[in-house]
Amino acid sequence: MRILVVGGGIAGATLAVALRQAGFDPLVAEARHSRAALGGAFLTLAPNGVNALRAIGLGDVPSAAEGFEVSGLDMHNARGRRIAELAGEHDLDRYGARGVVLRRARLHAELTRRAQAAGARYRFGARLVDLRHHAAGVTAVFADDETVEVDAVIGADGIWSTVRRLTWPDAPRPRYTGIVDCGGWTTVDLPDTSRQQMYFGHRAFFGYVVRDSLAYWFTNVPRRDEPERTEFDNLDHQDWMTRIRELHADDPAPIRAVLGAANRSLGAWPLYDLPDLPAWHTSTVCLVGDAAHAVSPSTGQGASLAIEDAVVLARHLGTGRRPETAFAGFVAERKSRAEKIVRFGRQIGDRKASSAAGNLFRDLTLGFFLRMGAKAAREQYAYRVPQRPESPYGPGATRA
Ligand SMILES: Cc1cc2nc3c(=O)[nH]c(=O)nc-3n(C[C@H](O)[C@H](O)[C@H](O)COP(=O)(O)OP(=O)(O)OC[C@H]3O[C@@H](n4cnc5c(N)ncnc54)[C@H](O)[C@@H]3O)c2cc1C
Repeated sequence: MRILVVGGGIAGATLAVALRQAGFDPLVAEARHSRAALGGAFLTLAPNGVNALRAIGLGDVPSAAEGFEVSGLDMHNARGRRIAELAGEHDLDRYGARGVVLRRARLHAELTRRAQAAGARYRFGARLVDLRHHAAGVTAVFADDETVEVDAVIGADGIWSTVRRLTWPDAPRPRYTGIVDCGGWTTVDLPDTSRQQMYFGHRAFFGYVVRDSLAYWFTNVPRRDEPERTEFDNLDHQDWMTRIRELHADDPAPIRAVLGAANRSLGAWPLYDLPDLPAWHTSTVCLVGDAAHAVSPSTGQGASLAIEDAVVLARHLGTGRRPETAFAGFVAERKSRAEKIVRFGRQIGDRKASSAAGNLFRDLTLGFFLRMGAKAAREQYAYRVPQRPESPYGPGATRA
């Protein structure tokens, strides 16, 4: 089977490794021009994501990518009082792994290196622009007019997926969440934090974690109207940081210490998630990762779900069934889990956005909401990629 993976992000690179292990010779087409150009800030790999990497022998990737383990989080209100916690001390016993904080570029580069070492073919600078379906398969057309003939196309091309748009022109578009995210890392004079520290600040939500005097921080700036796609392309970092410091001027001391030390944010990113899609596959095309189910970063599950998808899809394709059957099995196994996490992320995002209003009702119900959130997180972490694909049409399975 000739397989084209469109997009060499976290899902695409992991899928390339898993497909090589299953005996395929995939081609990965990545729009960016080189491995070095694959950027981003930082992200958390949850215990379920670490376990999914282990399932394909990539358990050492987080440490090779210089990630550090963090278990649990403390949630504070605007006065600095801890109002909820997600204890992480027993994560290793409970889930067999701890969460890991990683710079996205390092994780991405390491996964790409593993995929290439496993023999996956890559084409950088290959932006897919069209898919032409015919009796013998699919012709993929790229922006430079190059074409590739394949039997199956996997759309691993992220939240603004071209594969999705070409295959389902009427599919819902990504939904703006009302938040502009920004952050980075900076040297600070603060002790290490064993847990992630989160604050519902007076005007914006803030999170940070410190390891070896380096604080990894982010803030969620509420912004009701959807920004233009290019609005933050040429960010004036000085202006932007002044604005961020003003937003958090009345918030607890650790936030002010981190922002006082930070002289720039790595960028400003309007946050989107993806409403449930009616379908993730056809007989020749299948979506994975953010292309299928982009979650808000508030869940800490985007990369973990992408990795789970890659492992599960390669297992289904590895059974040697027709692509359509393998795709249906994959979707039956993955869709409801991923979409539940998208909804969970939306609820958290709405709470964060309402933070700006100093909403009394929110403050009163926050404790209950956070306890529910902790329960959902435990369920998410406990997931293990099944070792063998279940029957694609087993109990409860639906053809998408
Ligand atoms: C540049 C970048 C920075 C990010 N930074 C962060 C971050 O700081 N924190 C965080 O939590 N998440 C970040 N994310 C999102 C996070 O990586 C994903 O949510 C998650 O890892 C899911 O991975 P994915 O492979 O499905 O999608 P992505 O990681 O988004 O990968 C999609 C890939 O497809 C490629 N692509 C897109 N369109 C085409 C096309 N037409 N033809 C060929 N290739 C195409 C993109 O260049 C990209 O490499 C970032 C994503 C990107 C692309």
